[in-house]
Amino acid sequence: MKAVVYKGPFQVAVEEVPEPRLEADTDALLEVELSAICGSDLHIYHGKIAGVLPGTVLGHEFVGRIVEKGPLVPFPVGERVVGSFQVACGECPACRKGQFFACSRGGVFGFGLALGNLPGAQAERVRVPFARHTLFPIGDLPAEEAILAGDILTTAYGG
Ligand SMILES: [Zn+2]
Ligand SMILES: [Zn+2]
Repeated sequence: MKAVVYKGPFQVAVEEVPEPRLEADTDALLEVELSAICGSDLHIYHGKIAGVLPGTVLGHEFVGRIVEKGPLVPFPVGERVVGSFQVACGECPACRKGQFFACSRGGVFGFGLALGNLPGAQAERVRVPFARHTLFPIGDLPAEEAILAGDILTTAYGG
């Protein structure tokens, strides 16, 4: 599949990368309908994020459709969803206190080794760990509106 890949400071490219596969019963695979470029992606582009190595697939804001899922994912194949930029298990001590960013098994899509080493969503498909907590169904909402819930609005609200 095609994806946007970090090549080094001030260099990105659309390249052929391996298709993601389900790795856990709590994973979902999404066909990406829309992904966004975030100000945080520019920090990566400028080479300022340690742990983002050349070859990292970028992107953490996305809307897509579930095309495959593990048995513990409560949404049906075909469901349109928005993704949270941040992955959290929902069950560890930090998650139980609502401190999702401190999740011991969490991460951020497209942010390299320091944040879970999860390939990003500026790609034709993306693997979503802990899909029950990471995805939210959007029905027929326009993707351009729903995508704002994944980081832009929620980060501003949190701030
Ligand atoms: Zn963002
Ligand atoms: Zn957790």
